[in-house]
Amino acid sequence: INMKRIFLEDENKTKELGEKLGKLVDAGSIICLVGDLGAGKTTFTQSFAKSLGVDDYITSPTFTIVNEYQGRLPLYHFDVYRIGCSEEMYDIGYDEYINSDGVCIIEWANLIEDILPDEYLKIDMKYKEMGREVTFEPVGEKYEKMIEEMNL
Ligand code: ADP
Ligand code: MG
Repeated sequence: INMKRIFLEDENKTKELGEKLGKLVDAGSIICLVGDLGAGKTTFTQSFAKSLGVDDYITSPTFTIVNEYQGRLPLYHFDVYRIGCSEEMYDIGYDEYINSDGVCIIEWANLIEDILPDEYLKIDMKYKEMGREVTFEPVGEKYEKMIEEMNL
C-alpha cells in the first residue's frame, strides 16, 4: 500500500494539514481519523472544516455521534467513541451519510472498522512527546491520488 508517514512538530502543523486536505476533498469523500484521546483528531477536523468553508465552530459530537455543517459541500463530522456496536450507526442514518454527496470525517473510525466503505482515506495520529506522528493510508485510487496531491 502507498502509506505516507509525516511528523507534525506542533499544533499549527496539525492545523495546516487539516487546511490542506479540506481544499482537496470532493463530493463523497470519506476521511477516517484514528488515534487516542488527545492525538489531534478534533484539532485537525476544525481546520479541515474551516478550509471546507464551514463558518461554525466545530466541537466533537461525542454524545450526538454526528454533527452536520454546510461548507462548499455538506460536512458530516462523526465521533464514534461512545458507540456500543457498529449496528448503532445504521440507526443514526450512517448509510445515507456515507453514500451522500457530502464529506464524512469520522473520529475513532477504527471502532467501526467492520462497516467502513470500500474506499476511504485513513489518517492515523500518534501521540509523541514533542508532536504527533501521522500515517496516511489511502484505500482506493481516489485517495491515493488525494495524498499525492497533498505533496506530503
Ligand atoms: P482528539 O480529538 O484526538 O482527542 P484534540 O484535537 O481534541 O484530540 O486534542 C489534541 C491536543 O493536542 C490539543 O491540545 C492540541 O493543541 C494538541 N496538538 C495537536 N496537534 C499537535 C502537534 N502536532 N503537536 C503537539 N500538540 C498537538
Ligand atoms: Mg476529538
